[in-house]
Amino acid sequence: MEYLPLFFDLKGQSVLLIGGGDIALRKGRLLTRAGARVRLVAPRIDAEVRELISESGGELIEAEYHVDHLKGVRLIVAATDIDRVNRAVHADAVSAGLPVNVVDNPPLCTFIFPAIVDRSPIVIGISSAGKAPVLARNLRAKLETLIPPSYANLGELVGRFRAQVKAKFDTVNKRRNFWEKVLSGSVAERVFAGQNEAAEALLIEQIERADADHQVGEVYLVGAGPGDPELLTFKALRLMQQADVVLYDALVSPEVLELCRRDADLIYVGKQRDNHAVPQEGINDLLVQHAKAGQRVVRLKGGDPFIFGRGGEELRQLKEAGVPFQVVPGITAASACSTYAGIPLTHRDYSQSVKFITGQLKKRSAEINYDELAGTNQTLVFYMGLHTLDILTAGLMRAGKAPDTPVAIVSRGTRADQQVLTGQLDDICAKQAQAQLPAPALIIVGEVVELHSELAWYGDNQSSSVPIA
Ligand code: SAH
Repeated sequence: MEYLPLFFDLKGQSVLLIGGGDIALRKGRLLTRAGARVRLVAPRIDAEVRELISESGGELIEAEYHVDHLKGVRLIVAATDIDRVNRAVHADAVSAGLPVNVVDNPPLCTFIFPAIVDRSPIVIGISSAGKAPVLARNLRAKLETLIPPSYANLGELVGRFRAQVKAKFDTVNKRRNFWEKVLSGSVAERVFAGQNEAAEALLIEQIERADADHQVGEVYLVGAGPGDPELLTFKALRLMQQADVVLYDALVSPEVLELCRRDADLIYVGKQRDNHAVPQEGINDLLVQHAKAGQRVVRLKGGDPFIFGRGGEELRQLKEAGVPFQVVPGITAASACSTYAGIPLTHRDYSQSVKFITGQLKKRSAEINYDELAGTNQTLVFYMGLHTLDILTAGLMRAGKAPDTPVAIVSRGTRADQQVLTGQLDDICAKQAQAQLPAPALIIVGEVVELHSELAWYGDNQSSSVPIA
């Protein structure tokens, strides 16, 4: 380790900052955020710097740097681009035994600034020992996206109840167990959802009830998107990584499943047409059972849980059983498949609206109001329609939809083996009979399909548009 990371308490301490431009402004902001009293020295001081220092109760000295400016300070930062000044500051600081940083000049530093992720009171500093600052910044950007801003509120909440929890539990282990549960359970989730008051009330309740051993878990109904794991939301990923149990169905891709917590129990409750691994009532019961046993249950569903996902039914049961839950939307197949196939669902010239329709017909008969779908200037998207393709296309044509209306079938959209088959209402069945694209597949009907040949991009695996003789 080339540098030891330490956190410096600068509240009310005097810090010497040399320089009056942009770099000084950036360092000045950091120092004042940490509560330092900044003595700023420079022959010329920009207005913004001037304002920052005077508003934070610092001291402005409009002059060339002089060794006397070191008097009484605890830390020194040189933010000038004049080499002679930087060297002088470094030499004076070293002989006075004071820590010094010359910005962007590691040999003249006795300490360096890390890249900072600030979720105060939680603060993360990342350093590359001055060797690859861009790499450190990239890492910071990653952490910024992974750690919700509300971590700050969580840290603050924990801080406020620390003493109370310490008084309640007599051993370190008991305290640690308690906090681990709080930080990965419903209290934390309330904070992340912006419900700080509810989180606090729940925390108080959990401290009070801590001796009663049993606590109800929670269910997260999470949209897993169409298959490509990069289309998950941050929230989905976070909940997947703290789940005790994951109930998933057939549409959830193996790559997405990979991202669940390593030691979570994965339970397949998949439904394939006419072949339910676990019937819906059974799934509802399983959710309630696991949650009542105190577990954090992720119910992972393909696409979006509220679009042909029976999410509403599962939630009703949870509500009746008094199990707390959250729902995380996912990218639905219509949106993902059309995008990856280069087919915009709406277009100013071709389509002013879009309808999502289920192609699953209870009796293979007419439950669909085809007349309503026959009009032009709209896009129709059929889910679960591959096995009823003949009925759907015939129904549309019977209602007056032009036989040459373009149609696309997007099979296994967004996955490595995505395929797109295009045709028109009166020949798509024959083409599919020949091509036999596998499920899951989505059917898109409308003029916008013509844009596929023009707009297909590499997300739509180029070799995949099925050639038909
Ligand atoms: N809740 C899901 C839909 C579930 S219904 C969502 O929002 O996407 C199941 C149907 O979704 C399938 O029959 C198919 O029509 C469609 N589907 C889901 N994932 C798909 C994919 N990767 N490619 C093509 N169609 C998909």
